[in-house]
Amino acid sequence: MDKKAIRARLEALRDDLVALSEASEEARGAVDLDQTKVGRLSRMDALQQQAMDQAIEARRQTDLKRIEAALKRLDGDDYGYCLRCGEEIAAERLELDPATTLCTDCAAEAHP
Ligand SMILES: [Zn+2]
Repeated sequence: MDKKAIRARLEALRDDLVALSEASEEARGAVDLDQTKVGRLSRMDALQQQAMDQAIEARRQTDLKRIEAALKRLDGDDYGYCLRCGEEIAAERLELDPATTLCTDCAAEAHP
């Protein structure tokens, strides 16, 4: 396993998420809810958009935590082993999602 490449990939993913999060922070805070300025419908649109942005941001934060945790496991010797059964996680699986914590079998059991 090429830990150096995996670390670089995880760090790149993390940096992307942080950048996206920062870029959208302003947009999320900037919804103008002043009814005298905008019509009721566009206000609802704005609220809906805001809710959607918040959901996306929540997911970003979850992903960030997974990536941080994977980087931490990479620092130790735990990386690449299933957190549930302790078996090695297949390289192809880590390739698809370097922050994954479960082997294919355990993931299938967790989300049948
Ligand atoms: Zn497992």
